[in-house]
Amino acid sequence: MNPANVVGQSETHLCDASDAEALSVSVHREVVEPFAALRALAADTGFDVAILSGFRSFDRQLSIWNRKARGELAVLDSAARPLNIASLTERELVFAILRWSALPGASRHHWGTDIDVFDAAARPAGYEIELVPAEYEGAGMFAPFSAWLDERIANRTSFGFFRPYDRDRSGIAPERWHLSYGPLAAEFARMLSIELLRDTVVSADMQLKDVVLANLEEIVDRFVKNTNPDVP
Ligand SMILES: [Zn+2]
Repeated sequence: MNPANVVGQSETHLCDASDAEALSVSVHREVVEPFAALRALAADTGFDVAILSGFRSFDRQLSIWNRKARGELAVLDSAARPLNIASLTERELVFAILRWSALPGASRHHWGTDIDVFDAAARPAGYEIELVPAEYEGAGMFAPFSAWLDERIANRTSFGFFRPYDRDRSGIAPERWHLSYGPLAAEFARMLSIELLRDTVVSADMQLKDVVLANLEEIVDRFVKNTNPDVP
């Protein structure tokens, strides 16, 4: 892998087209096998594990970022309620977006090692998944699958997958749908230096760029490095 793979500006690390078609998303080529193993184990319990989001390019993440910054996509508070962004300073807006959306260049989805998963067997026909806590907790439709995953991760029988956003660490909100293939993601994380991220942001057509660059160290500390350290 090279720096362009780390920041989502190259796709040479991804699986081939037939695997991507079977999964309906693209992932890192070394994630195809462990995911198939996890999926097969889950099927024994009646879960039909599917991936809603796998690899995401820098340009796609940039589009999400810019639309949120312009108020074209909802920016959510910690309880996943829409915020009135007109009442926020630019710095507050940057940090509000970061609660639920990665800085372009710093998304773990760039790596192809990270996936947002759900149980297709529990999704009602026509239901559009929102990826919100209520779906994965309590009486949520994906809560049984999510609890099963908790057990597997705790027992180290999850084929290397873990939850980087397992609990609230005052950075990214807990995301029970987001799994990461630890052995490989750790290598990407090591390669994502603040210098690489700064260079990537500087050359991008990004909303709020000056505010991002002025706060980049805090952003990296709170939203990039600040993940579950218990990596399989
Ligand atoms: Zn995710």
